[in-house]
Amino acid sequence: MKLHIETQELRMRHIWRISRDQAMGKVNVVIQLEHDGIIGFGEAAPNIRYHETTESTVAFLEKARPVIEAADPWRFQDFIRRIHELDEGQNAAKAAVDMAVLDWVGKKLDIPLFRYFGLDAGKTPVTSYSIGIDTPEKIKEKIREAEGFPILKIKLGSEDDEQIMQAVREATDRTVRVDANEGWPDPLQALEKMHWLAQLNVEFVEQPLPAGRLDDVTWLRERAPLPIVADEDVHLARDIPALAHAYDGINIKIMKSGGLLEALRMIHTARAHGLSIMLGCMIESSLAITAAAHLSPLVDWADLDGNLLLAADPFTGGGVREGKLILPHGPGLGVQRNQGQNG
Ligand SMILES: [Mg+2]
Repeated sequence: MKLHIETQELRMRHIWRISRDQAMGKVNVVIQLEHDGIIGFGEAAPNIRYHETTESTVAFLEKARPVIEAADPWRFQDFIRRIHELDEGQNAAKAAVDMAVLDWVGKKLDIPLFRYFGLDAGKTPVTSYSIGIDTPEKIKEKIREAEGFPILKIKLGSEDDEQIMQAVREATDRTVRVDANEGWPDPLQALEKMHWLAQLNVEFVEQPLPAGRLDDVTWLRERAPLPIVADEDVHLARDIPALAHAYDGINIKIMKSGGLLEALRMIHTARAHGLSIMLGCMIESSLAITAAAHLSPLVDWADLDGNLLLAADPFTGGGVREGKLILPHGPGLGVQRNQGQNG
């Protein structure tokens, strides 16, 4: 396979702020794998939380180039395992290779990826729409913009938590999920926050405590009035057995797992441990969002909105209707590059 690597600038519709950082845009990496006249597309959304940058992503892909260029795309299980074994981490780069080879396979077979996995496109979940940390006025404006979305995911974990939730509940009575992004390091404070959020009719809380504190999460879960979902605490299938007693559910992201093949293993592992499953994302274009959406008929909750938060999307793929994810029926990922958005 021939590998082509390019960077892709993404600009946000609003400044994007969560508990630990903020940004107006980011630079993802888009790859093409070409073989037999067919091109598979992949996207990496590097995340500094996991020691990934645009540069480290490109460096990993260059390191993987000899493996990629010698690989037979039909033997993608062996090929992707070799990519994972090249180095620890850099899972966003690995995800780009995984989705590109599966895009190639789907195009070669002339079937959409959800069909390759034997899934029912009618069974996609409703995605939440994420509201980043902001002033009460801007929170209300964002909630108005998200009018068509029946479920909101509110980012908390700053000193502004109370005024944010007040603005949210003044603006809407829609279903609300909360993501603290590790922002409540004191378990007692986290418990107080969760009692308060339960009164505000919040459905569940994602990653209240910093990752790696499973004893504290277990303590919290025994007392908390709401389900607790792991995000920063879970990356790969092998992480799941150790945290299954501490959490009610997990947030799987292909950028954390290193692609769809590992995400699918995570779905099965989580089910075996009785966990609920969310499929989430980073700030990504419709290329990577659509890749993840092809697995969404298997999960309970979706948070696949990274593309919706962009000022301009370089790709067109899956859509959303009244919050419900719509899968494209074209072969492979079913994603096209938008005109004038090259590199
Ligand atoms: Mg999260």
